[in-house]
Amino acid sequence: MLVVFDSPSSATRAAERLRDDGVVVHLFADGQPAVLAVVAHGPGSEALRALDGVVEVREPGPFLSTLSAGAPLVVDVAGVAFGGAALPVIAGPCSVDDEGRVEHIAHAVRDAGAALLRAGVTKVRTHPYGWNGPGKDALRPLRDIGRTAGLPVVSEVLGESDVDAFAESVDLLQVGARNMQNIPLLRRLGRTRRPVLLKRGFGCTVDELLGAADHVLSAGNPSVILCERGIRSFEHGVRFSLDLSALALLKTRTRLPVVVDPSHAAGDARLVAALAKGAVAAGADGLLVEVHDDPARARSDREQALTLDAFRGLMTDVARVAAAVGRTLHPPLPERP
Ligand code: PEP
Ligand code: MN
Repeated sequence: MLVVFDSPSSATRAAERLRDDGVVVHLFADGQPAVLAVVAHGPGSEALRALDGVVEVREPGPFLSTLSAGAPLVVDVAGVAFGGAALPVIAGPCSVDDEGRVEHIAHAVRDAGAALLRAGVTKVRTHPYGWNGPGKDALRPLRDIGRTAGLPVVSEVLGESDVDAFAESVDLLQVGARNMQNIPLLRRLGRTRRPVLLKRGFGCTVDELLGAADHVLSAGNPSVILCERGIRSFEHGVRFSLDLSALALLKTRTRLPVVVDPSHAAGDARLVAALAKGAVAAGADGLLVEVHDDPARARSDREQALTLDAFRGLMTDVARVAAAVGRTLHPPLPERP
Protein backbone atom coordinates (compact mmCIF):
# COMPACT_ATOMS: atom_id res chain seq x y z
CA MET A 1 0.00 0.00 0.00
CA LEU A 2 1.29 3.49 -0.82
CA VAL A 3 0.32 6.45 1.32
CA VAL A 4 0.75 10.04 0.13
CA PHE A 5 1.07 12.81 2.76
CA ASP A 6 0.64 16.56 2.64
CA SER A 7 4.14 17.13 4.01
CA PRO A 8 7.40 15.27 4.71
CA SER A 9 6.94 15.85 8.46
CA SER A 10 3.55 14.12 8.61
CA ALA A 11 5.00 11.24 6.57
CA THR A 12 7.94 10.97 8.97
CA ARG A 13 5.67 11.00 12.02
CA ALA A 14 3.43 8.31 10.56
CA ALA A 15 6.47 6.18 9.64
CA GLU A 16 7.73 6.36 13.23
CA ARG A 17 4.36 5.33 14.64
CA LEU A 18 3.97 2.41 12.24
CA ARG A 19 7.53 1.23 12.84
CA ASP A 20 6.89 1.27 16.59
CA ASP A 21 4.03 -1.13 15.85
CA GLY A 22 6.41 -3.43 13.95
CA VAL A 23 5.22 -2.47 10.44
CA VAL A 24 7.87 -2.43 7.71
CA VAL A 25 7.69 0.93 5.92
CA HIS A 26 9.68 2.62 3.20
CA LEU A 27 9.75 6.40 3.35
CA PHE A 28 10.30 8.88 0.51
CA ALA A 29 10.00 12.03 2.58
CA ASP A 30 12.31 14.27 0.57
CA GLY A 31 10.12 14.34 -2.55
CA GLN A 32 6.94 16.26 -3.14
CA PRO A 33 4.45 14.87 -2.33
CA ALA A 34 5.88 12.89 0.56
CA VAL A 35 5.24 9.19 0.18
CA LEU A 36 5.20 6.36 2.60
CA ALA A 37 5.20 2.85 1.15
CA VAL A 38 3.94 0.32 3.65
CA VAL A 39 5.77 -2.73 2.50
CA ALA A 40 4.69 -5.73 4.52
CA HIS A 41 1.67 -6.74 6.57
CA GLY A 42 0.61 -3.15 7.17
CA PRO A 43 -2.74 -1.97 8.45
CA GLY A 44 -5.67 -1.86 6.01
CA SER A 45 -6.36 1.14 3.81
CA GLU A 46 -8.97 2.58 6.18
CA ALA A 47 -6.55 2.69 9.11
CA LEU A 48 -3.93 4.27 6.86
CA ARG A 49 -6.37 6.88 5.61
CA ALA A 50 -7.00 7.90 9.24
CA LEU A 51 -3.35 8.88 9.82
CA ASP A 52 -2.61 12.60 10.16
CA GLY A 53 -1.86 14.43 6.92
CA VAL A 54 -2.87 11.63 4.50
CA VAL A 55 -3.83 12.85 1.04
CA GLU A 56 -4.23 9.53 -0.74
CA VAL A 57 -3.89 5.78 -0.21
CA ARG A 58 -3.05 3.67 -3.27
CA GLU A 59 -2.68 0.01 -4.08
CA PRO A 60 0.94 -1.01 -4.68
CA GLY A 61 2.30 -0.57 -8.19
CA PRO A 62 4.58 1.85 -9.96
CA PHE A 63 4.35 5.01 -8.00
CA LEU A 64 7.17 7.47 -8.51
CA SER A 65 7.03 7.09 -12.30
CA THR A 66 3.27 7.71 -12.29
CA LEU A 67 3.02 10.81 -10.08
CA SER A 68 0.64 12.98 -12.02
CA ALA A 69 1.20 16.44 -10.57
CA GLY A 70 3.01 19.01 -12.68
CA ALA A 71 4.32 19.36 -16.18
CA PRO A 72 6.17 16.64 -18.13
CA LEU A 73 9.59 15.99 -16.66
CA VAL A 74 12.54 17.11 -18.70
CA VAL A 75 15.60 14.89 -18.40
CA ASP A 76 18.86 16.64 -19.20
CA VAL A 77 21.58 14.54 -20.84
CA ALA A 78 24.76 16.63 -20.98
CA GLY A 79 22.80 19.66 -22.13
CA VAL A 80 20.34 17.81 -24.39
CA ALA A 81 16.77 17.97 -23.06
CA PHE A 82 14.45 14.98 -23.41
CA GLY A 83 10.77 15.64 -22.73
CA GLY A 84 10.57 19.23 -24.03
CA ALA A 85 9.09 20.50 -27.28
CA ALA A 86 12.26 19.64 -29.24
CA LEU A 87 12.96 15.96 -29.97
CA PRO A 88 16.52 14.63 -29.76
CA VAL A 89 17.45 11.83 -32.14
CA ILE A 90 20.01 9.31 -30.87
CA ALA A 91 21.92 7.71 -33.73
CA GLY A 92 24.89 5.46 -34.35
CA PRO A 93 25.94 1.88 -34.93
CA CYS A 94 24.71 -1.09 -32.91
CA SER A 95 28.25 -1.77 -31.70
CA VAL A 96 31.70 -0.26 -31.81
CA ASP A 97 33.07 -2.45 -34.62
CA ASP A 98 36.02 -0.23 -35.35
CA GLU A 99 36.81 3.13 -33.77
CA GLY A 100 37.67 4.90 -37.03
CA ARG A 101 34.35 3.84 -38.47
CA VAL A 102 32.43 5.05 -35.41
CA GLU A 103 34.16 8.41 -35.68
CA HIS A 104 33.13 8.73 -39.31
CA ILE A 105 29.53 7.74 -38.47
CA ALA A 106 29.46 10.16 -35.50
CA HIS A 107 30.36 13.16 -37.63
CA ALA A 108 27.91 12.15 -40.34
CA VAL A 109 24.94 11.69 -37.99
CA ARG A 110 25.83 14.94 -36.22
CA ASP A 111 25.80 16.76 -39.55
CA ALA A 112 22.41 15.21 -40.29
CA GLY A 113 20.99 16.56 -37.00
CA ALA A 114 21.48 13.78 -34.44
CA ALA A 115 21.73 15.00 -30.84
CA LEU A 116 23.42 11.97 -29.25
CA LEU A 117 25.76 9.21 -30.41
CA ARG A 118 24.89 5.60 -29.60
CA ALA A 119 27.18 2.55 -29.82
CA GLY A 120 27.48 -0.63 -27.77
CA VAL A 121 30.84 -1.75 -26.39
CA THR A 122 29.53 -4.85 -24.58
CA LYS A 123 26.66 -6.55 -26.39
CA VAL A 124 24.10 -9.05 -25.17
CA ARG A 125 23.38 -11.51 -27.95
CA THR A 126 20.67 -14.11 -28.22
CA HIS A 127 23.27 -16.76 -29.16
CA PRO A 128 26.71 -16.93 -27.58
CA TYR A 129 28.65 -17.28 -30.84
CA GLY A 130 28.24 -13.77 -32.27
CA TRP A 131 30.19 -10.54 -31.82
CA ASN A 132 30.12 -9.42 -28.20
CA GLY A 133 31.55 -5.97 -28.81
CA PRO A 134 35.08 -4.72 -28.18
CA GLY A 135 34.65 -4.58 -24.38
CA LYS A 136 34.95 -1.85 -21.79
CA ASP A 137 38.34 -0.66 -23.04
CA ALA A 138 36.44 0.99 -25.88
CA LEU A 139 34.49 3.27 -23.51
CA ARG A 140 37.05 6.06 -23.38
CA PRO A 141 37.70 6.10 -27.11
CA LEU A 142 33.91 6.19 -27.60
CA ARG A 143 33.60 9.13 -25.21
CA ASP A 144 36.41 10.95 -27.04
CA ILE A 145 34.75 10.34 -30.40
CA GLY A 146 31.54 11.83 -29.00
CA ARG A 147 33.40 14.84 -27.67
CA THR A 148 35.17 15.48 -30.94
CA ALA A 149 31.88 15.26 -32.79
CA GLY A 150 30.15 17.40 -30.15
CA LEU A 151 27.70 14.61 -29.22
CA PRO A 152 26.93 13.17 -25.79
CA VAL A 153 27.25 9.37 -25.80
CA VAL A 154 24.89 6.56 -24.81
CA SER A 155 25.97 2.93 -24.38
CA GLU A 156 24.42 -0.18 -22.84
CA VAL A 157 25.65 -1.33 -19.43
CA LEU A 158 25.09 -5.03 -18.86
CA GLY A 159 25.64 -5.57 -15.17
CA GLU A 160 25.93 -4.00 -11.76
CA SER A 161 29.70 -4.36 -11.60
CA ASP A 162 30.13 -2.34 -14.81
CA VAL A 163 28.09 0.67 -13.72
CA ASP A 164 30.99 2.76 -12.38
CA ALA A 165 33.13 2.27 -15.46
CA PHE A 166 30.27 3.21 -17.77
CA ALA A 167 29.14 6.16 -15.64
CA GLU A 168 32.66 7.58 -15.89
CA SER A 169 32.65 7.64 -19.68
CA VAL A 170 29.13 7.84 -21.03
CA ASP A 171 26.49 10.54 -20.65
CA LEU A 172 23.44 8.26 -20.71
CA LEU A 173 23.39 4.70 -19.36
CA GLN A 174 21.30 2.32 -21.47
CA VAL A 175 19.52 -0.66 -19.94
CA GLY A 176 18.75 -3.17 -22.69
CA ALA A 177 15.40 -4.86 -23.24
CA ARG A 178 16.75 -8.17 -21.93
CA ASN A 179 17.82 -6.48 -18.71
CA MET A 180 14.73 -4.39 -17.96
CA GLN A 181 13.93 -6.47 -14.91
CA ASN A 182 17.48 -6.93 -13.66
CA ILE A 183 16.57 -5.41 -10.32
CA PRO A 184 20.09 -5.27 -8.80
CA LEU A 185 21.27 -3.40 -11.92
CA LEU A 186 18.34 -0.97 -11.72
CA ARG A 187 18.98 -0.30 -8.04
CA ARG A 188 22.66 0.25 -8.69
CA LEU A 189 21.80 2.71 -11.49
CA GLY A 190 19.57 4.48 -9.00
CA ARG A 191 22.69 5.35 -7.04
CA THR A 192 24.52 7.03 -9.94
CA ARG A 193 24.01 10.60 -11.03
CA ARG A 194 23.94 9.71 -14.72
CA PRO A 195 20.60 9.62 -16.52
CA VAL A 196 19.27 6.20 -17.52
CA LEU A 197 17.68 5.08 -20.80
CA LEU A 198 15.41 2.19 -19.83
CA LYS A 199 14.33 -0.01 -22.74
CA ARG A 200 11.10 -1.96 -22.44
CA GLY A 201 11.51 -5.73 -22.29
CA PHE A 202 9.88 -7.28 -25.35
CA GLY A 203 7.72 -9.51 -23.13
CA CYS A 204 6.92 -6.87 -20.52
CA THR A 205 3.83 -4.78 -19.94
CA VAL A 206 3.69 -1.00 -19.56
CA ASP A 207 3.06 -1.46 -15.86
CA GLU A 208 6.19 -3.61 -15.55
CA LEU A 209 8.20 -0.96 -17.41
CA LEU A 210 6.98 1.69 -14.97
CA GLY A 211 7.78 -0.63 -12.07
CA ALA A 212 11.33 -1.00 -13.41
CA ALA A 213 11.60 2.80 -13.66
CA ASP A 214 10.47 3.04 -10.04
CA HIS A 215 13.41 0.83 -9.01
CA VAL A 216 15.81 3.45 -10.42
CA LEU A 217 13.82 6.46 -9.16
CA SER A 218 13.27 5.10 -5.64
CA ALA A 219 16.99 4.42 -5.27
CA GLY A 220 17.61 8.13 -5.75
CA ASN A 221 18.21 8.82 -9.46
CA PRO A 222 15.47 11.13 -10.81
CA SER A 223 16.62 11.00 -14.46
CA VAL A 224 14.97 8.15 -16.35
CA ILE A 225 14.02 8.13 -20.03
CA LEU A 226 11.76 5.26 -21.13
CA CYS A 227 12.14 3.55 -24.51
CA GLU A 228 9.55 1.55 -26.48
CA ARG A 229 11.47 -0.79 -28.82
CA GLY A 230 8.91 -3.35 -29.96
CA ILE A 231 7.34 -6.37 -28.29
CA ARG A 232 7.02 -10.03 -29.29
CA SER A 233 3.86 -10.73 -31.28
CA PHE A 234 2.65 -13.49 -33.60
CA GLU A 235 3.86 -11.50 -36.60
CA HIS A 236 7.08 -12.96 -38.01
CA GLY A 237 7.46 -10.46 -40.85
CA VAL A 238 9.07 -8.01 -38.45
CA ARG A 239 11.64 -8.64 -35.73
CA PHE A 240 9.32 -7.24 -33.05
CA SER A 241 6.03 -5.32 -33.24
CA LEU A 242 6.40 -1.63 -32.45
CA ASP A 243 3.81 -0.92 -29.78
CA LEU A 244 2.65 2.63 -30.37
CA SER A 245 -0.31 1.98 -28.10
CA ALA A 246 2.19 1.61 -25.27
CA LEU A 247 3.61 5.01 -26.19
CA ALA A 248 0.14 6.58 -26.08
CA LEU A 249 -0.67 4.77 -22.83
CA LEU A 250 2.63 5.81 -21.23
CA LYS A 251 1.83 9.42 -22.09
CA THR A 252 -1.30 9.13 -19.94
CA ARG A 253 0.49 7.39 -17.06
CA THR A 254 3.88 9.00 -16.64
CA ARG A 255 5.61 12.35 -16.86
CA LEU A 256 8.90 10.69 -17.76
CA PRO A 257 10.05 11.22 -21.36
CA VAL A 258 9.38 8.31 -23.74
CA VAL A 259 11.55 7.71 -26.79
CA VAL A 260 10.99 5.14 -29.51
CA ASP A 261 13.51 2.80 -31.13
CA PRO A 262 12.15 1.86 -34.56
CA SER A 263 15.32 -0.05 -35.53
CA HIS A 264 15.15 -2.98 -33.12
CA ALA A 265 11.38 -3.16 -33.59
CA ALA A 266 11.57 -3.41 -37.38
CA GLY A 267 14.75 -5.45 -37.70
CA ASP A 268 14.69 -4.30 -41.32
CA ALA A 269 16.17 -1.00 -42.54
CA ARG A 270 13.37 -0.60 -45.11
CA LEU A 271 10.74 -0.22 -42.38
CA VAL A 272 12.59 2.08 -40.00
CA ALA A 273 11.57 5.46 -41.46
CA ALA A 274 7.86 4.59 -41.47
CA LEU A 275 7.97 3.52 -37.81
CA ALA A 276 10.01 6.59 -36.86
CA LYS A 277 7.47 8.92 -38.48
CA GLY A 278 4.58 7.08 -36.82
CA ALA A 279 6.29 7.35 -33.45
CA VAL A 280 6.85 11.10 -33.73
CA ALA A 281 3.27 11.62 -34.90
CA ALA A 282 2.09 9.61 -31.87
CA GLY A 283 3.97 11.77 -29.37
CA ALA A 284 7.44 10.25 -28.93
CA ASP A 285 9.91 12.50 -27.08
CA GLY A 286 12.80 11.33 -29.21
CA LEU A 287 14.09 8.50 -31.38
CA LEU A 288 16.90 5.96 -31.22
CA VAL A 289 18.06 4.83 -34.67
CA GLU A 290 20.83 2.45 -35.72
CA VAL A 291 23.00 3.88 -38.49
CA HIS A 292 26.12 2.47 -40.17
CA ASP A 293 28.26 3.78 -43.01
CA ASP A 294 28.39 0.30 -44.56
CA PRO A 295 25.55 -1.80 -43.10
CA ALA A 296 26.66 -4.97 -44.92
CA ARG A 297 29.85 -4.87 -42.83
CA ALA A 298 28.20 -4.14 -39.48
CA ARG A 299 29.16 -6.82 -36.96
CA SER A 300 25.75 -6.79 -35.26
CA ASP A 301 22.22 -5.88 -36.37
CA ARG A 302 23.27 -5.22 -39.98
CA GLU A 303 19.80 -5.82 -41.46
CA GLN A 304 18.25 -2.91 -39.58
CA ALA A 305 21.08 -0.37 -39.87
CA LEU A 306 20.29 2.68 -41.99
CA THR A 307 22.90 3.95 -44.43
CA LEU A 308 24.07 7.51 -43.84
CA ASP A 309 21.98 8.63 -46.82
CA ALA A 310 18.88 6.88 -45.54
CA PHE A 311 19.41 8.51 -42.14
CA ARG A 312 19.62 11.96 -43.71
CA GLY A 313 16.34 11.26 -45.52
CA LEU A 314 14.71 10.04 -42.31
CA MET A 315 15.74 13.22 -40.48
CA THR A 316 14.18 15.43 -43.14
CA ASP A 317 10.92 13.45 -43.06
CA VAL A 318 10.78 13.22 -39.29
CA ALA A 319 11.33 16.99 -38.96
CA ARG A 320 8.24 17.52 -41.11
CA VAL A 321 6.15 15.17 -39.00
CA ALA A 322 7.41 16.86 -35.82
CA ALA A 323 6.36 20.25 -37.21
CA ALA A 324 2.91 18.85 -38.03
CA VAL A 325 2.41 17.90 -34.37
CA GLY A 326 3.75 21.17 -32.98
CA ARG A 327 7.29 20.02 -32.20
CA THR A 328 10.77 20.37 -33.64
CA LEU A 329 13.96 18.36 -33.73
CA HIS A 330 16.79 19.09 -31.34
CA PRO A 331 19.08 20.63 -32.43
CA PRO A 332 17.30 22.39 -35.32
CA LEU A 333 18.04 20.63 -38.60
CA PRO A 334 21.06 22.20 -40.33
CA GLU A 335 20.45 24.00 -43.60
CA ARG A 336 20.79 21.56 -46.49
CA PRO A 337 21.94 22.84 -49.89
C1 PEP B 1 20.60 -2.09 -28.76
O1 PEP B 1 20.14 -0.95 -28.53
O2 PEP B 1 21.59 -2.29 -29.47
C2 PEP B 1 19.90 -3.25 -28.19
C3 PEP B 1 20.52 -4.40 -27.96
O3 PEP B 1 18.58 -3.02 -27.98
P1 PEP B 1 17.48 -3.90 -27.20
O4 PEP B 1 18.00 -4.07 -25.81
O5 PEP B 1 16.26 -3.06 -27.30
O6 PEP B 1 17.35 -5.22 -27.93
MN1 MN C 1 21.40 -3.26 -31.94
